[in-house]
Amino acid sequence: MAAVIDKTDEQQAICEMVRQFADEQIIPNAEHYDHEDAFPEPIVEQMKELGLFGVTIPEEHGGMGLDLTTYAMIVEELSRGWISISGVINTHFIGSYLLMKFGSEEQKQKYLPRMATGEIRAAFSLSEPELGSDVAAIKTSAKKQDDGTWEINGQKMWVTNGLRSDLVFVLVRTDPSAEKPHKGMTCFIAEKEAGVAENTGPYKGLNVPPQIKKMGYKGVESTELVFDGYRCPAENILGGEEAGLNKGFPQMMDALELGRVNVAARGVGIAQRALELALRYSQERKTFGKPIAQHQAIQFKLADMATQVDAARLLTNRAARMKDAGERSDIEAGMAKLFASEAGRFCVEEAFRIHGGYGYSKEYEIERLYRDAPLLLIGEGTSEIQRMVIGRKLLERHKI
Ligand SMILES: Cc1cc2nc3c(=O)[nH]c(=O)nc-3n(C[C@H](O)[C@H](O)[C@H](O)COP(=O)(O)OP(=O)(O)OC[C@H]3O[C@@H](n4cnc5c(N)ncnc54)[C@H](O)[C@@H]3O)c2cc1C
Repeated sequence: MAAVIDKTDEQQAICEMVRQFADEQIIPNAEHYDHEDAFPEPIVEQMKELGLFGVTIPEEHGGMGLDLTTYAMIVEELSRGWISISGVINTHFIGSYLLMKFGSEEQKQKYLPRMATGEIRAAFSLSEPELGSDVAAIKTSAKKQDDGTWEINGQKMWVTNGLRSDLVFVLVRTDPSAEKPHKGMTCFIAEKEAGVAENTGPYKGLNVPPQIKKMGYKGVESTELVFDGYRCPAENILGGEEAGLNKGFPQMMDALELGRVNVAARGVGIAQRALELALRYSQERKTFGKPIAQHQAIQFKLADMATQVDAARLLTNRAARMKDAGERSDIEAGMAKLFASEAGRFCVEEAFRIHGGYGYSKEYEIERLYRDAPLLLIGEGTSEIQRMVIGRKLLERHKI
């Protein structure tokens, strides 16, 4: 199949390397980790060696210094293997973006080099038990103490990498009297001990309940986080106290725009894999004396899938390039996320149908994809929320 997108030599080389990694290390092992719901430690260790935790971190801080466009290509390849693998680096990537864009010089020096190697990993926490889409309704709060630290209290929900992360970029309310709720929120860099459910010592008051049991997206943990008198030093406010206090909402919204391109790339990856599985199975399986791929109804499905994959990839690439060029890309990121996540769901369902009864068997990869794909319709803003963002921004851009 002809490439839909021109890649530089560097992008070509990296994508080939990651595709080979997915073919040799991720795809053959995903079934095991998925069925056991076990963290794919050996795969993550190899990702560290490949430098994948520092793709976008500047070289001066030990990363590869690559742009969002290249990162999105890498995420597509990893997600083609298994979206849980991209889940291990996605929140880390958002955390490193927040630091690179809004962090103080000291914060960058302190965290980025160890984040680039994957020695420390980051989670990203907005959602709470009572809210996800409505971020401005966040209840978790932080109050300044006499010793200058900030005490955080409240409960967070659905924190990907919530247990094994060392840092959580967490949005909390710091000014309850702010005229508009989103003006009174701050992003803290909450440090914790990786892998520990009940933190002690300097991290006391940050507890991680047992991981949430999920339909798919296994292997990578999603947890609640309970902040109960957790003390965070003022220097851990993103950007420093003076610059960052009550600035958390726009910082997080900026990161979400990037996160949408990221989820779009995951949608392309899972849709691409579903297409590959369908192309193979439909040429192997015979009914009525010929391979099912020879029935026009099946060919139409393959045609629709391939069209959606290419369109999703093009939209994702456009949004990433615009963001890299510093152009306003809120509408484009929303369109890419909306279209690619729906394309992921569509292609997975079509591939499932093409597999007939075997699609329902845990022996076949498509069964896992069928459970994994719906997550992309929800994370980083549901399809309904994307439509709201696109619609609102369209009217802003075309005001009469
Ligand atoms: C596996 C997994 C991992 C996650 N990881 C993270 C993470 O790492 N960090 C994090 O912060 N969050 C994470 N999330 C949370 C995710 O971002 C939220 O689930 C998502 O934003 C939706 O929020 P909600 O679940 O509260 O749904 P709600 O906001 O309650 O929405 C429920 C339904 O109502 C619709 N709806 C809501 N408002 C409107 C409206 N105004 N108009 C029309 N329809 C509307 C929604 O589209 C949806 O269909 C994760 C979720 C999952 C499932």
